[in-house]
Amino acid sequence: MFERAPEVGGKARSRRRDGYTFDVTGHWLHLRDDRVRALADEVFAAGDLVEIERKTGIYTHGVMLPYPFQANLHGLPLPVVQECLATFIEAQVAASSPSAATPRTFEDFAVARFGRGIAEHFFIPYNRKLWGEAYDDLTPDWISRFVPMPDVRQVVGGAIGLRQEGLGYNVRYLYPTAGGIDALPRALDRAARAASATVRLSTDVTRIDPIARRVHTAEGGVRSYDRLVSTLPLPELVKRIDGIPDALAEAAGKLRWVRWRYLDVGTRSQVPMDEHWVYVPDPQTPFFRVGCYSNALQAMAPPGCGSLYVELADRDEPPDLPAIFAALAQMGALASPDDVAFADVHDIEYAYVVFDHAYAGARDALFDHLEGLGIRSCGRYGAWIYNSMEDSILAGMEAAQWLNA
Ligand SMILES: Cc1cc2nc3c(=O)[nH]c(=O)nc-3n(C[C@H](O)[C@H](O)[C@H](O)COP(=O)(O)OP(=O)(O)OC[C@H]3O[C@@H](n4cnc5c(N)ncnc54)[C@H](O)[C@@H]3O)c2cc1C
Repeated sequence: MFERAPEVGGKARSRRRDGYTFDVTGHWLHLRDDRVRALADEVFAAGDLVEIERKTGIYTHGVMLPYPFQANLHGLPLPVVQECLATFIEAQVAASSPSAATPRTFEDFAVARFGRGIAEHFFIPYNRKLWGEAYDDLTPDWISRFVPMPDVRQVVGGAIGLRQEGLGYNVRYLYPTAGGIDALPRALDRAARAASATVRLSTDVTRIDPIARRVHTAEGGVRSYDRLVSTLPLPELVKRIDGIPDALAEAAGKLRWVRWRYLDVGTRSQVPMDEHWVYVPDPQTPFFRVGCYSNALQAMAPPGCGSLYVELADRDEPPDLPAIFAALAQMGALASPDDVAFADVHDIEYAYVVFDHAYAGARDALFDHLEGLGIRSCGRYGAWIYNSMEDSILAGMEAAQWLNA
């Protein structure tokens, strides 16, 4: 195994500073598959993982609502609640009509499924901030597994103040007790090495010769293979393969992704809000999501302190820290702007794959070609999908079976 970084883990790495621990923004472990649970039991000792009940909110119109927005409208200004409810019910009626059209864009989907009010007060502004200029080209394909779909009873209940809980895919999650999601890749690394795998760190794959079946690295190494598994982002893999036909290079050029810019924030006192992470749709707020690691697990910050991640809407300009701290304090994510001990800015080049109308054709063409070359491209950016750590582990298990077949 070749890994470019000096440590294993990829996006599931952690950074530590002055007793504070940060992941590459929130990395909460949701395990649904028995095979992955069994693997976790094998590589972790009893007590190494703690189960945590999700506390998630939406901060909008100056109020903190429980997640998900569409099922917890109570607390919003009454005209907003009325608009959301009325248009939700109209959308339900329209959807049952035989002439209802299949939504083409993400926005069509949000309006058709939840009504114009819920779409305009949450889904549209939140996703505009998250996806930036890719927003207008989004199809609804990525969404179904991750967006809770409450029924009329739940939406009406949530609007009149009956708190709707337990909706969505991630009600409870696991997290390493000692703090830092990097305990997971490190445990897998130990198990792999114990099974005689060779893991070469700081080894950058620069070229793949699919005819001679050789991998070249920046350090001058050459290694032969029979079959190759790659977790490089798909456009990076394609760039490195010798002799890629022009049509496929063109297909790779159609793949789009969004970059992330976020802050690791250490605070001197505890964070006033209770939530573990909060969605912030309002266009004027400079971030779209903020999470508090230390609310989930106090070991993520020194005693009495807090550690936060702040996912920024603007990924081009240097962040306006005073404005960000003021907005965090206003929503209860900081005791006051002066409570910040430090704030470090980080970027993720490949954060989210963009599901636009060119996506499926380009991806399918590339995968057909790679299969013919004996290369399996998997993981979140290798498969060019939206997925979780558990999905990536499952993809690893399937790749191992393919190698052994
Ligand atoms: C902002 C964000 C939040 C997320 N939150 C969650 C969450 O809460 N829960 C959850 O389950 N999942 C979450 N995920 C998803 C999770 O990060 C991924 O599913 C998982 O980490 C993907 O693993 P991977 O191995 O496919 O890719 P990566 O983690 O990207 O690993 C790819 C590896 O390839 C290496 N590499 C790249 N180029 C080369 C090269 N040329 N030579 C050698 N090595 C190379 C990289 O260094 C890296 O280690 C989140 C993702 C993001 C971006």
